[in-house]
Amino acid sequence: MTVSEMNKTAAALDIFDRLKSEGFGDLHLKVDAATGLQAIIAIHSTKRGPALGGCRFIPYDSSQDAIIDAMRLAKGMSYKTAIAGLPVGGGKAVIMKPDNLTDRPALFRAFGHFVQELGGRYITALDSGTTLTDMDIISEITPYVGSKTNDGDPAPSTAQGVFRGIQSVVKYKFKKDDLKGLHIAIQGVGAVGYLLARHLHAAGAVLSVADINTEAVERCKREFGATIVDYHTIHALECDIFSPCALGAILNDNTIPAIKASIVAGGANNQLAKERHGQVLRDRGIIYAPDYAINGGGIIHAAARYFHHSDAKAAQHIEEIYNVIYTICERADKQNQPTNIIANSIAEERLR
Ligand code: NAD
Repeated sequence: MTVSEMNKTAAALDIFDRLKSEGFGDLHLKVDAATGLQAIIAIHSTKRGPALGGCRFIPYDSSQDAIIDAMRLAKGMSYKTAIAGLPVGGGKAVIMKPDNLTDRPALFRAFGHFVQELGGRYITALDSGTTLTDMDIISEITPYVGSKTNDGDPAPSTAQGVFRGIQSVVKYKFKKDDLKGLHIAIQGVGAVGYLLARHLHAAGAVLSVADINTEAVERCKREFGATIVDYHTIHALECDIFSPCALGAILNDNTIPAIKASIVAGGANNQLAKERHGQVLRDRGIIYAPDYAINGGGIIHAAARYFHHSDAKAAQHIEEIYNVIYTICERADKQNQPTNIIANSIAEERLR
């Protein structure tokens, strides 16, 4: 990049203004010529504890895109950890994936030094493009790693939290303590969606499932008697609850008008295409369980492993998702606000 291009980027980004307006603590950049490392660590908040958040390893078109992504994701982590009531803050790392990667372990060791230099203000973890093996390599250099091979898969904890969150919205909306006979449509039956389906089936729900992976839906048909539906139109199915467990931005101007369920509650991240879609759902009388509040089981699992909390304590913490979701539904009606805005304000109260 030429100096003038860099200047143009900095001007367009207006980085300090952005850091200030979004309540950031700090932003760190690192290059390591020997390994090709180009990494960013964004620390949004350490008010509740060290900033916890995954390390993303994907290609970016520009350093500006990578910085913005790191900042956006770090802020999201502050909200997610705050609403989960965890003693950590929000941060995120982004490593720009090079075109030609010759020595992956060396790159992640260099990243480990970067994390170590921050002295524990940031704890890294798994995210898109990184593997448990990468985390194990980072942990050779620094103890500030939240998801290593021995820490186990977070998906069961995520699914358990989403299950409790669904029970909570059902209690609020239908005044029912059980899920018997409720028809639930799950979009995406991968790690989280499949385990959620298992909980819902055991609780007596009737399931419809959709996935681009035919083996995944066949398994749900076999094990839970689920009906397989088209993955293009599952959001529009006549059912009680639509549960997005695959893609982001699934709640948008095209899909919301077609939704027939009165509850949307699932594990996928970033379900709302735009914040304003929370209001669009509310206007249609649909209760939306905010994604980062209902899918916090995985981060609770990671934090419990990092701080060596017992499984019982982690499970108790995941149970809290029921109360958090219920409180969000109550406040949304009391204040006549969409649930995503209420969730944000609860997180912001906790971050102050
Ligand atoms: P996964 O990759 O195991 O499962 C995703 C599933 O969605 C796959 O089976 C995939 O084939 C399917 N899918 C992809 N495109 C689809 C489409 N167009 N229609 C229907 N299905 C489609 O991932 P996961 O770990 O189960 O995560 C699912 C979602 O939950 C993601 O948004 C993830 O960010 C979020 N999440 C996961 C965890 C966790 O602990 N794994 C924690 C919090 C949030």
